[in-house]
Amino acid sequence: MGQLGPLATGLTGRAVIVTDTNVAPLYADAAVAALAGAGVAADVIDLPAGEASKCLTVYGEVMDRLLALKPAIDRGCLIVALGGGVVGDLAGFVAATALRGLDFINVPTTLLAAVDSSVGGKTGLDAAAGKNLIGAFHQPRAVLIDAATLGTLPAAELGNGLAECVKHGVIRDASLLDLIESSAAAIESADADVLADLIARNVAIKAAVVAADERESGQRAHLNFGHTIGHAIEAAGGFGGLSHGQAVSLGMVAAFSIAVGRKLVSQSDADRVRGILAALSLPVSFADTPSLPGEARQAGHLQEIMAHDKKARGGVVRFILPTSLGSVDIFDDVTADEVAAAVAALG
Ligand code: NAD
Ligand code: ZN
Repeated sequence: MGQLGPLATGLTGRAVIVTDTNVAPLYADAAVAALAGAGVAADVIDLPAGEASKCLTVYGEVMDRLLALKPAIDRGCLIVALGGGVVGDLAGFVAATALRGLDFINVPTTLLAAVDSSVGGKTGLDAAAGKNLIGAFHQPRAVLIDAATLGTLPAAELGNGLAECVKHGVIRDASLLDLIESSAAAIESADADVLADLIARNVAIKAAVVAADERESGQRAHLNFGHTIGHAIEAAGGFGGLSHGQAVSLGMVAAFSIAVGRKLVSQSDADRVRGILAALSLPVSFADTPSLPGEARQAGHLQEIMAHDKKARGGVVRFILPTSLGSVDIFDDVTADEVAAAVAALG
């Protein structure tokens, strides 16, 4: 956290830290102190923890609190997003839109935010019509990741990030899978050194994919591996269903089973990835998710949700399937029967 000061050096305006009610008591004082050490005064705005805050109402409240600060903020003001993906997305969107654009620094404090949401410049909010439908691309001036902050993260939240790490290995780098496989126990116990290494490897992968395709016209779609069926399971699960990482874990297992059926990868590759997910305490079959409602296990219901997904173009559901460990391709011709078989294979 101490490095936040040097990153803000030379700032002409003041800093405003946007955080949530879980993270504020843990890390807001350290962030304020780091900025003060660089001669930068900081205010703190906190919002209720949780996805429900990523909405127009809370956005409006944060914006009003920001614009009511005395003395008034100007274009030299720096927004610091201190928290998980919810805070990063919302504070980034505030930064993109307040006074037509302020600088911001993202300080992710969840593994998911560190390896996924803080890289790529997407900011935004959920709408009544669906998640992430309001937003802007707004790149932060810097992303500061302090792996020590992950020590306080609940295990389930760590799992959300780990699912994305496995995804990155599958789509780009088999040696990342080796690393995760050999250090699963240290990762699960949030060993800061191991996590720092893991995060650096994952940020490099996500950054390279995004840099090659910032506006999502081509290979950025590879990041959707495991998310086609995964999102449908997450949505069908409804309130009290699965976390994003759990749903994506099942989605990756299902995508592997379609790929094995097409002889794109071997059964032993699929088994290996399944074993890595299981070692990270992520679900690999419906037997691992007893609370998931029955309809979230039905292929027909999941397919209906997939066809209405914003990523489905003209009703065509796009699948990202592995072609080896470390590479994937885009497939627009996956049939309903293949999806049904893959969902059935989840148990
Ligand atoms: P989150 O921000 O809700 O954080 C999860 C929980 O952990 C919250 O309760 C939070 O208060 C708590 N928390 C955060 N840091 C903590 C810490 N160090 N110690 C203890 N508790 C801590 O959720 P998330 O999983 O970080 O992010 C999910 C969001 O990210 C979703 O809204 C999703 O849409 C978004 N997302 C965005 C992108 C993007 O490209 N912008 C990509 C992926 C996901
Ligand atoms: Zn995801």
